[in-house]
Amino acid sequence: MELLPEFVVRNVETPQEAARLLAGDAGARILAGGTGLVANMRLGLDAPSMLVSLDRVEGFREVSDRGGMLRLGAGVTLARLTTDADVGRCAPALATAAATVAGPAHRSAATLGGNLCLETRCVFYNQNETWRSSIGYCLKYRGDVCHVAPHGKRCHAAYSGDLAPVLLVLGAEVEIAGPGAVRRTPLGALYRDDGAQHLALARGEFLAAVLAPAARPATRVAYRKARVRGAIDFPLAGVAVALEIENGRVRELRVALTGTNPCPLLLAGTEEFRGHAPDQALLDKLVKLVQRQASPQRTTVTSSNYRRQVAAAITRRLVSELAA
Ligand code: SF4
Repeated sequence: MELLPEFVVRNVETPQEAARLLAGDAGARILAGGTGLVANMRLGLDAPSMLVSLDRVEGFREVSDRGGMLRLGAGVTLARLTTDADVGRCAPALATAAATVAGPAHRSAATLGGNLCLETRCVFYNQNETWRSSIGYCLKYRGDVCHVAPHGKRCHAAYSGDLAPVLLVLGAEVEIAGPGAVRRTPLGALYRDDGAQHLALARGEFLAAVLAPAARPATRVAYRKARVRGAIDFPLAGVAVALEIENGRVRELRVALTGTNPCPLLLAGTEEFRGHAPDQALLDKLVKLVQRQASPQRTTVTSSNYRRQVAAAITRRLVSELAA
């Protein structure tokens, strides 16, 4: 582990002040729970010159129900998501997903924004400085070779946040604060399919809040993940499903994955199942969609094909259970 580098901490009162600081210093980072950022600093993966705290910004740590639309400040902790009455009523699957992240101590500090903006992960990257320098670093940081795909020029590190898949199947949007006006965009547009630069944020921009519509009363939503150690680990593969059945036929089916690609993935093509019975034939086709679109690489301790099969198996089970 590395000693923490020298940095200053700035407490701001408004998002505009934070955006100005971030825009003016490439080494400035948002500090919320710090469970990801500080761990990366101790590994020597980041050395910010300034940490910008949003604790004094109005709404940063608040949950509000705006007539069926939840507004969740990016600083709301995962522990709060697991117990908040509004979240439990409007988006219970989000509470379930939050409860699967790490352990209670982490969840008491880690935040919604931190989980959504979680740095991508790879066994060749999430190591200490001595380990990484012994292999000449890698494309994602300081090096020029990807040890997962040595002939390519692309990083395949996997996004492993647990909340994004649930919010994607709910059709959530995000508020992005920046030097200009706050902009609102679908959550999916926050991400890029690039393990080295997976967030589509311009300099000075940061995630300020999430707007999550409550699912229709007939829609069932669930999240499940597979991991090495059930008590704490990041997902090897995680799946969220939103399913509405009407008169024995699929009215709506949305599936989102995490842990398999450089960004959370809302499965394309599920609208073809509308009007079909949720039977074995549908499940077989759905599993093929997952296997085609999930693209796990050799970035974890388990093989990429294992994670692809696990994502498919979890999807099959979740849809079966929700349809029953
Ligand atoms: Fe590095 Fe390649 Fe892993 Fe990306 S996928 S972190 S470039 S080894």
